[in-house]
Amino acid sequence: ITMYRAKAAGGNRYELADARAIARHNLTNCLPTALENGEFFIEYQPLVRLADGTVRGAEALVRWLHPVHGVLGPDQFIPLAENTGLIVPLGRWVLEEAARQARAWRSDGEGPMRVNVNLSPSQLRCPTLVADTVAVLRNAGLDASALCLEVTENALIGADEKELRPLRELADLGVDIALDDFGTGYSNLSYLRRLPVSTLKLDRCFTRGMQQAPADPVDVKIVEGIVSLAHTLDLSVTVEGVETGNQAEHLRLLGCDTAQGWYYARPGPPERLHTLSLADAAS
Ligand code: C2E
Ligand code: MG
Ligand code: MG
Ligand code: MG
Repeated sequence: ITMYRAKAAGGNRYELADARAIARHNLTNCLPTALENGEFFIEYQPLVRLADGTVRGAEALVRWLHPVHGVLGPDQFIPLAENTGLIVPLGRWVLEEAARQARAWRSDGEGPMRVNVNLSPSQLRCPTLVADTVAVLRNAGLDASALCLEVTENALIGADEKELRPLRELADLGVDIALDDFGTGYSNLSYLRRLPVSTLKLDRCFTRGMQQAPADPVDVKIVEGIVSLAHTLDLSVTVEGVETGNQAEHLRLLGCDTAQGWYYARPGPPERLHTLSLADAAS
């Protein structure tokens, strides 16, 4: 409310309210009803095994169909949901929905299609995370191994053993844990050994230099180094932001395991995955 009040800045001069702050404020206000009204939806982006080009699964990416503003991306509302605590019910909804979808793909004879779901820092701290996840998997009739939870490197910085316990429990149950946006956070790599993760998701900024030939030699060296480190620690490497065939081929040769990006498919409705894996089967 204070944001609406133009502050007197002395004399006749007024400071105009910050339009972006107002927008944030309004969006925050309608977040809770948006969840009740079913205004959120999920797009899926395939994850492709580089060795043979087959679709292994998909990442669930949430969007908000706002009645006035149209489709909003997660960067526009996840931080607001995080600040207000709504991220916990929203994140649980995404998990339920994605698990149900993964189950549907399997029932459609899609094979062992896996689904990746992003977890926010508040969800990690939620005391019912393990129980909720187990319940969602059970209700969907899905194996733990069909789920991969993506946690950003930044969310885990400084986490002690107690804070990591829920993730470790989930990992012990067979849920795959991926370290998202890897390379953008902590620089001390020794902490990787302590984390219950099975996959590194290399941030887009490292693969950007490989879109065109010749590739940026420094980026090539970095990716090479990370792949070798990951494989030494028995972790698989997923690369994000693959936009060209050049990049895909180069990353395959560097030993990356899985790729995701516009070159294969943009995020889209769940039916798209069906078409993609059929194309797979035909080729
Ligand atoms: P992320 O998990 O790193 O997801 C990858 C982002 O890169 C997605 O953006 C995706 O659309 C985009 N992307 C994929 N391929 C390409 C490409 O080839 N080129 C380029 N330039 N971009 C590509 P999106 O959908 O806007 O999501 C942004 C972030 O929002 C995600 O980053 C994730 O951190 C967060 N997010 C999305 N859904 C959820 C959710 O359900 N819960 C939480 N907590 N966070 C979410
Ligand atoms: Mg992610
Ligand atoms: Mg990522
Ligand atoms: Mg990212």
